[in-house]
Amino acid sequence: MRRIAAHYLVSRGQVMPRPLVTLNDEGHIQRVEQWQRLDTIAQTEFYAGALCAGFVNMHCHIELSYLRGQIERGSGFAGFARKIGQVRGNFTAEERQRALRAADGSLWAQGVDAVADIINGETSLDMKAQSHIRYTSFAEVFGLNSTVEPMQQIAERWSGVSLTPHSTYSLQSDTFAATVTAAKRSNSPLSIHFLESEAEKALYQDEGSLAEWYGRMGWECDFLHHGSPTQRIVDTIDGSQRLLLIHNCFAEREDVELLQTHFGEGVSWVLCPRSNDYISGLRPPVELLREMGCRICIGTDSLASNESLSMVEEMKCFMDIPLRELITWATQNGAEALGLGDEIGTVEEGYRSGIVLLEGITADTNGELWLTEKTTSRRLI
Ligand SMILES: [Zn+2]
Repeated sequence: MRRIAAHYLVSRGQVMPRPLVTLNDEGHIQRVEQWQRLDTIAQTEFYAGALCAGFVNMHCHIELSYLRGQIERGSGFAGFARKIGQVRGNFTAEERQRALRAADGSLWAQGVDAVADIINGETSLDMKAQSHIRYTSFAEVFGLNSTVEPMQQIAERWSGVSLTPHSTYSLQSDTFAATVTAAKRSNSPLSIHFLESEAEKALYQDEGSLAEWYGRMGWECDFLHHGSPTQRIVDTIDGSQRLLLIHNCFAEREDVELLQTHFGEGVSWVLCPRSNDYISGLRPPVELLREMGCRICIGTDSLASNESLSMVEEMKCFMDIPLRELITWATQNGAEALGLGDEIGTVEEGYRSGIVLLEGITADTNGELWLTEKTTSRRLI
C-alpha cells in the first residue's frame, strides 16, 4: 500500500486541496480523501505541487523518433514531407530501435499512461508489446495509389492495431471507404490528419500547393466532388463511428458545426500545438473549439516535428487556460476518446491510472491553478 499526499489534486475538471490518495500494491486507487494534519497520518509521502492522473498522448508517430533534430523548424507543410523522404534512409535499424525505446522511456517517466500512435510499418510493435504504456496503434493507409491490403496485414498480425485513413486528401474513394469499413469491423476509432494546412481545403477547389503538386505528377483525385474535406468526412463516414481529428489548424465554425452535428460525442479534436508551430508557425483554433463545447485532446506529434514528447510543454501553449481544464484535455478526454474512460484518465476509487506530480505551478487568490514556464511533470505511480 502507498499513501500519497500533496497540495492539490486536479481531476474531472476540479481542484481538490490537500488530497490524500491511497493505492494498493498493484497501484490501483483505493481511496481519495482530504488531509487536515499530515503529521497524524503514518507512512504518507508528501509532495509539493499538484497530483493528476497519467496523461493520454492522443497523437504521436513514435516510429519517427530517430528523426529528432533532423528537420529544421519552419520547413512548411510540403517541405517537411519532402525532408522526411530525404533523411529517412540515413539510419540503421538499430538506431531506430534505440530512439524508439528512449522515446517510450521518456513518455513513461513524465507520466504518460496511454498513447494513440500512428504507424506506417511494424518497427515499433515489439517495443510496444513490452512497454508499460498502453499503445493504440493506427496503421495509416496513405497515398493516392495505395490499397488497404499492406496495412490490413499488419493489423491482422498484431493486437492493438487498427486501420485509419491518413487524411482526406491522400486516398482515393475506394481505398478510403475500405479503410473506414475495416476500422468499423474492429470497432476502433479513426485517427485522421485534418486541416493541418490550408492546401487541403484549396485542393477541393483545384487550387493551392497540393493541387499543383498532384497536377505536376499527373495524379487525379476521384473525391473532389464532395467539395471540402469536412463534407467528404460527413458524406463517407457513418455518424456512429468514433473519430479523432488531428491538428485542425484551419477548422472554421462551419466545419466544427457540421462535424459536431454528424458525430456528436463520437468526435474528438486533437491539438498538437508545438508541431504546428515547428512546421508552419501555425496555431490551432482553440478558442473556437472551447466555445463550441468540443472534446479537446492533446498530442505531441513526433520527434520529427517537436523538440520533445512532453505533454506539459504542449499545455504551455495554452497558459491562459486554467490548469484544471488543460488537465482534462490531457487525461480524461483522451481516455474517453479511446474507450478507456472507466480505467484511466482520472484519480478516483477503482481507477488504475498512474499518479503524476506537477511541480512549479501557481495558485491565484481564487484558488485557481495555472501552469508557469517552470512547470514539469513526473510519474509517482
Ligand atoms: Zn501526425
